[in-house]
Amino acid sequence: MRKEDRNFQGILVFGETRSNKIHSVTYELTGKARNLADVKGCEVSVLLLAESLRDDPSDLFRFGADKVLVVQDPSLSIFNQGIAVNVLKAIIEAENPEILLAPATTIGRTVLPSVAAMLQTGLTADCTGLEIDPDSGLLLQTRPAIGGNVMATIKTPVHRPQMATVRPKTFRIPAPRNRTGTLIYPTLPKETFSSPIQSIHLQRAEGDGGNIQDRDCVVSGGKGLRRPEGFRLIKELAELIDAGVGASRPTVEAKWISYPHQVGLSGKVVAPKIYLAAGISGAVQHLAGMQTAQKIIAINKDPEAPIFRIADVALCGDLYDILPRLIERIRVERCERNG
Ligand SMILES: Cc1cc2nc3c(=O)[nH]c(=O)nc-3n(C[C@H](O)[C@H](O)[C@H](O)COP(=O)(O)OP(=O)(O)OC[C@H]3O[C@@H](n4cnc5c(N)ncnc54)[C@H](O)[C@@H]3O)c2cc1C
Repeated sequence: MRKEDRNFQGILVFGETRSNKIHSVTYELTGKARNLADVKGCEVSVLLLAESLRDDPSDLFRFGADKVLVVQDPSLSIFNQGIAVNVLKAIIEAENPEILLAPATTIGRTVLPSVAAMLQTGLTADCTGLEIDPDSGLLLQTRPAIGGNVMATIKTPVHRPQMATVRPKTFRIPAPRNRTGTLIYPTLPKETFSSPIQSIHLQRAEGDGGNIQDRDCVVSGGKGLRRPEGFRLIKELAELIDAGVGASRPTVEAKWISYPHQVGLSGKVVAPKIYLAAGISGAVQHLAGMQTAQKIIAINKDPEAPIFRIADVALCGDLYDILPRLIERIRVERCERNG
């Protein structure tokens, strides 16, 4: 839709629910939408789709929402692309948001392109930065381009809404504030909840050990492991300190470890308290997935490795020498502490 067609205002977040619970990425995007709305002087609305929500939707007010719209229907018990597209399109047409933010999860990546095409507007996928242009008030959508080697800032000057997806963990959940808002349960026509697409079964693609995005510590291995068995050492350390196991893309491509473990531009974004990278050079595409970690420990035998430029702790040497010593040291210290 062209902006002169209607009066577009406000920011709408397409929230995500899983098993009728609000997913953390919804809080991340609500917080970011609040920052943007404060600059623009507009409202933030959050849309939630669920069969029957088990979390309290009004909690989102404390994280920046002014309005929460909860659409509940038995057909939403399992994700169905057709129904999700129908609902989001209907809400956009009723609310006329100027900006729409959605998570770049499987759901967001499936629903948003269809809705953008139907509304004939632009969509910038996998944004790593969102700002408001102080002169034009437009959404500045920044994302890696040309294989991650440049950061491109994209604008949608004419069509509305301006739509962007953001990968989980890109923005931090803000501290909750004492604020309130309006909770609405919109009633949509019956046909909104039917679709020629049939969802039969959904199965989450997870690496062993769960989703690495939920872990406080991540231990990752790269091509410097030189052989698939090298991940045994990575897993041993990870298990010892209750960490998730991450990996660089070449190790996934070589089938040393499965894709859900991949960290980076074409893998997952993680923001743990500690990220340990062993035998990873630190290519920009890998850094795109882990540079917001609070503490970065890097093990590399090359003193010039780019990963050392962002590391808080740099261990220069052979990982097959350093990792076993680190594991042994942790074990000994634990034994001594436990008497
Ligand atoms: C569009 C695009 C998307 C991409 N997406 C991703 C992505 O999501 N994630 C990702 O990781 N990459 C991604 N890449 C690939 C990226 O450019 C790099 O090629 C990759 O990150 C390199 O992986 P690596 O560090 O494991 O391997 P290398 O670059 O080969 O580095 C291996 C490192 O191990 C060190 N080393 C070797 N032996 C030892 C030893 N015994 N002890 C200690 N250190 C040792 C070496 O000094 C070296 O620094 C992408 C590329 C493109 C073009």
